[in-house]
Amino acid sequence: VLEQTRYDVAIVGGGPAGASAAYLLARKGFKTVILERGRGGGSKELYGGRVYAPPLREVWPSLDKEAPIQRWVRQERISVVSGERVLTVEYDSPDAISFTAYLPELARWMVGKAEEAGALFVDEVRVDSIVRDDKGRVVGVRSGPDTLYADVVIDAEGVNRLLLEGLGLVKPLKATESPIALGVKEVLKVKESQIEERFGLEKGSGLAWVVAGSVTGGLPGGAFIYTFKNMVSIGVVVHLGHAYRAIESGKFDSHVKDLVEALRLHPFFRRFWRDADVMEYGAHLTIEGGLKFMPKTLVLDGLVIVGDAAGFLLNTGYTIRGVDFAVYSGKLAAEAVEIAHNMGGMTRENLKVYEDMVKRSFIYRELVKHEGISHIMSNPDFFTKYPELAIGVMKKLFEAPYEHPTIYEAFIESSREVGLPLLRLAGEALRVVNRL
Ligand SMILES: Cc1cc2nc3c(=O)[nH]c(=O)nc-3n(C[C@H](O)[C@H](O)[C@H](O)COP(=O)(O)OP(=O)(O)OC[C@H]3O[C@@H](n4cnc5c(N)ncnc54)[C@H](O)[C@@H]3O)c2cc1C
Repeated sequence: VLEQTRYDVAIVGGGPAGASAAYLLARKGFKTVILERGRGGGSKELYGGRVYAPPLREVWPSLDKEAPIQRWVRQERISVVSGERVLTVEYDSPDAISFTAYLPELARWMVGKAEEAGALFVDEVRVDSIVRDDKGRVVGVRSGPDTLYADVVIDAEGVNRLLLEGLGLVKPLKATESPIALGVKEVLKVKESQIEERFGLEKGSGLAWVVAGSVTGGLPGGAFIYTFKNMVSIGVVVHLGHAYRAIESGKFDSHVKDLVEALRLHPFFRRFWRDADVMEYGAHLTIEGGLKFMPKTLVLDGLVIVGDAAGFLLNTGYTIRGVDFAVYSGKLAAEAVEIAHNMGGMTRENLKVYEDMVKRSFIYRELVKHEGISHIMSNPDFFTKYPELAIGVMKKLFEAPYEHPTIYEAFIESSREVGLPLLRLAGEALRVVNRL
């Protein structure tokens, strides 16, 4: 099937990055094909639940009207948990710039838009390798015995990057060394009216909730809760290197899926999805530290790399931005391919314009600005002692049977109890606000 036609552009992966590049290139008149190993668009995808709309509107101006948006996020919650005690900061806004969406549904919509624009979407085809000619130029992709030739291949394969590994552009993923995390998630069925009642939301509005502390079993990482129309997505993400070392040293002996179950059954959180059925669960890798994850080059002769495969993901702990980065990088790739085409062809020199565009974009600026996050992630105190300190202060202030300490006293006493000297606290607090 693959051999019969030659394409201008072959895109590996029908996720947000591949679908956005395909849509824009097909509209520009390039003969474009998307090759996706899953059945239908989005079937292999898993994420938390919230997407920032502005970068997507640049690709699909009709997004707000047409996309399968579940709820517009008008409430943010950040909680720290120590055992059964929970401290929460809440932020409400009448405006919304992000929405919750079910990723398989959203990706299917994006692929549908690419098809409408004239791209061919071929599912259930796993690309085994990217093909180079004897001069090292990328000339197509191979799947089983078939080779599909194209002027340019866009690699939108996501975080696993087996194809880029095959080209020698990235190292194989290693749990112990790579800046990656494992996310495990459950989708719970809750009635629309119950979601609004239990979470205190206006009709149609949504909530994005991040949780840190004992919910990760002391491991660097965090938990998330997102409200869809009539579903709640809950999950836990842990840094794999730390998890591995904690298991090796006997400090952690459960599984991330058990942490998600513990979140579902947690005495405080369970009230939000009381009696709910688990409709779906799954696990997926994700990137921790985008810049470290970037391949040594984003273009070769005949190749452009986009989305997670390029390391374009930012997890600050209070927001995770991957889908909008992926879509926007697909847009930049489409523009670069058009420029290279007008300059005479898909050579590395011509495609380098993509790297320049990425470096000038908000994606790269965000990754550079927040680069120090991986340093924070490597300090387990942020996931154990700091939540205990915050909860300790609250406990002293609100659970004093007779005499209340001053806030200062509560703070000093708690920092002593958890073993965080004040000077270190002040230094680290400065570093954190500077990097997050
Ligand atoms: C637990 C978790 C929570 C997250 N939460 C959020 C969130 O709330 N908000 C947010 O914006 N981002 C979130 N992300 C990140 C987000 O999911 C990714 O950044 C985004 O999906 C990247 O898009 P992509 O198109 O680059 O890759 P993907 O979405 O991974 O798509 C890649 C596609 O390529 C296909 N593919 C791979 N290899 C081949 C092959 N060899 N042949 C054919 N097809 C292939 C796959 O099947 C897949 O469909 C989260 C991620 C995880 C794991």
